[in-house]
Amino acid sequence: MDVGLKRELEAKVYAGERLTREDGIALYDSDDLAWLGRLAHHKRTEMNGDRVMFNVNRHLNLTNVCSASCAYCSFQRKPGEKDAYTMRIDEAVRKAKEMEDEQLTELHIVNGLHPTLPWRYYPKVLRELKAALPNVKLKCFTATEVQWFEKISGLGASEILDELMDAGMESLTGGGAEIFDWEVRQHIVDHNTHWEDWSRIHRLAHEKGMKTPSTMLYGHIEEPRHRVDHVMRLRELQDETGGFAVFIPLRYQHDFVDSADGKIRNRIQAQTTMAAPAESLKTFAVSRLMFDNVPHVKCFWVMHGLSVAQLSLNFGVDDLDGSVVEYKITHDADSYGTPNTMHRSDLLDLIWDAGYQPVERNTRYEIVREYDKPISLAERRSEPQQVWA
Ligand code: SF4
Repeated sequence: MDVGLKRELEAKVYAGERLTREDGIALYDSDDLAWLGRLAHHKRTEMNGDRVMFNVNRHLNLTNVCSASCAYCSFQRKPGEKDAYTMRIDEAVRKAKEMEDEQLTELHIVNGLHPTLPWRYYPKVLRELKAALPNVKLKCFTATEVQWFEKISGLGASEILDELMDAGMESLTGGGAEIFDWEVRQHIVDHNTHWEDWSRIHRLAHEKGMKTPSTMLYGHIEEPRHRVDHVMRLRELQDETGGFAVFIPLRYQHDFVDSADGKIRNRIQAQTTMAAPAESLKTFAVSRLMFDNVPHVKCFWVMHGLSVAQLSLNFGVDDLDGSVVEYKITHDADSYGTPNTMHRSDLLDLIWDAGYQPVERNTRYEIVREYDKPISLAERRSEPQQVWA
């Protein structure tokens, strides 16, 4: 990058000026990862100090049967496939109870677009889950699922959200966003929820008082300009509603031969690689710099491994996904040895070892518990440090 442009961008960041689309593309163009990290760290420190948030959650997928066949998805199954499943309501409750422990604060529920399950199943399952786990917040459904519910129920999204909230839904999930630019989207997404409907449904959720996450699936066939465009759309919507609590860049995953049927389900695998750790760190940093109005940037460590997750804290990230015992959507595609369980004490060590203060939050990003500040590195040198995979 031209030295003059670098100085110009640096001056804008330190002056707190909003970055433009061109600035975002220029930042992606830079190979100076340490410089990007420094700028993003400045921004994250201004917005979040030395705090790193986490929450203790579990993932529940009620069904993997889906009417769509998104090109990157290794989770979906068609009816009758050997490992297709759909939980009865009592099964879902039993499964959730098995995952419950005294530390659990949130259940994250996303599912396939099941062709025959009736609409009434969804609020009913939330009611039963809420009755069984009254202290656990339910973060459920993507905007794509909500639009699917419109189709199968004949109701509008507003009534659907009202009923789901009445049944116990605390927040939508951020899924279904992928990359909004149609140039890319038409090749990877096989459902009808594009920017217009995704933003319509999140806008409605914000109007009803929900705080929702926003996401972006990166590292497949998109280019940096598509990532910047994606962030610009979300930033504009955030200016309007203020309802996004967090932005989560999700790393596209390759599929591996499924031992159950020998299939690879990811149809864009042959033409893609996965984002390298440096690319992921760059994406976290540029996202943090572009989003002057979304308070948090999250690293979902299951997709990155613990080393990259720890490093990401110096590249704009201030939120780590909590102890995840089960997460099928990612783990159907993961053969990288990323552990799928991390306990509270491991997470705290990871955050302290990076020099930050852990803060437990709830689904609405309200603080549940503040932990001690980290012990300085100089004081810790005499102690052997954890080596993260
Ligand atoms: S990404 Fe979601 S909507 Fe698309 S095929 Fe997979 S489960 Fe279905």
